[in-house]
Amino acid sequence: YRAKHRKTGYEVFEPDMNRRTLERLQLASDLRRAVERQELELHYQPQVRLRDGELIGVEALLRWRHPERGMISPAQFIPLAEETGLIVPLGAWVLQEACRQGVEWANQGHASFRIAVNVSALQFERDDFVSTVSASLASTGFASERLELELTESIVMRDVRETTIRMEHLRQLGVSIAVDDFGTGYSSLSYLQRLPLNVLKIDRSFVQNLRDAENALPVVKAIVGLANHLGLSTLAEGVETDSELQLLLDVGCDFAQGYHFARPLPPGEILAFLEQQARKMIERHH
Ligand code: C2E
Ligand code: MG
Ligand code: MG
Ligand code: MG
Repeated sequence: YRAKHRKTGYEVFEPDMNRRTLERLQLASDLRRAVERQELELHYQPQVRLRDGELIGVEALLRWRHPERGMISPAQFIPLAEETGLIVPLGAWVLQEACRQGVEWANQGHASFRIAVNVSALQFERDDFVSTVSASLASTGFASERLELELTESIVMRDVRETTIRMEHLRQLGVSIAVDDFGTGYSSLSYLQRLPLNVLKIDRSFVQNLRDAENALPVVKAIVGLANHLGLSTLAEGVETDSELQLLLDVGCDFAQGYHFARPLPPGEILAFLEQQARKMIERHH
């Protein structure tokens, strides 16, 4: 029996593996229904300008409130969404919802900060990606200058011709582009120069190594230098301590995001963050 299975290339399932596979299938089918059941929500993490602490943007981060399992982290369900292709409708929902929220904030008098939205390779590579973005902008009335798309290096490097064309179209819409987790992929520097990018997001792993080891400092310095050379801004991810913040200021990094400033917050708490920030500014002037 076994020999037969070997020949046909089938693996004999371990009971544990079987259970995990079933669990993933179950989760995938739950995820398929998550949008219509309104189990998904976006939280927003503040991005600040290092020079003065001003809120310059928020990153939209997807959260899934599963009816039985509670909050599930995107690290768990985004890969599943990508494997199943569900990331395409989910991603479209994220874009639409982020733009809708942006307009709601604008109507409440807060229209000064950008909203950054994460985009998966599978979404970006679709021929209808640019029209999905422009449809979200048009149907909500969100100002395109306030939308930033976060793409990873792997997307940027996949098919440079196609990527360049698509990015040019996005730029024509007025949308800006950030490279997420910068430094962890294999960017070709000559390609970076050709692409219409706006921001390099320095990966959290470099920022967190600033804490005890000096070896991350030259890397961060090099990224900031490269960004300056290319005319791009830099945003440091995962800033947790005051000493990291100080080092980032020293090397001339522009913006930062991390638990030191705020965790990802439900939309209502972003207004509280803004108020608290305004109070701090007033205190500083007195
Ligand atoms: P990312 O885009 O690099 O997002 C930053 C992640 O770092 C977030 O995790 C955020 O909560 C976390 N983070 C922020 N500051 C700190 C800090 O100071 N310390 C530490 N340890 N972590 C910090 P989260 O929300 O769990 O998201 C994980 C990843 O899931 C994201 O990484 C992104 O790649 C993906 N993701 C989240 N939402 C979406 C989405 O709407 N679409 C797509 N395609 N991917 C998403
Ligand atoms: Mg991101
Ligand atoms: Mg990131
Ligand atoms: Mg990251």
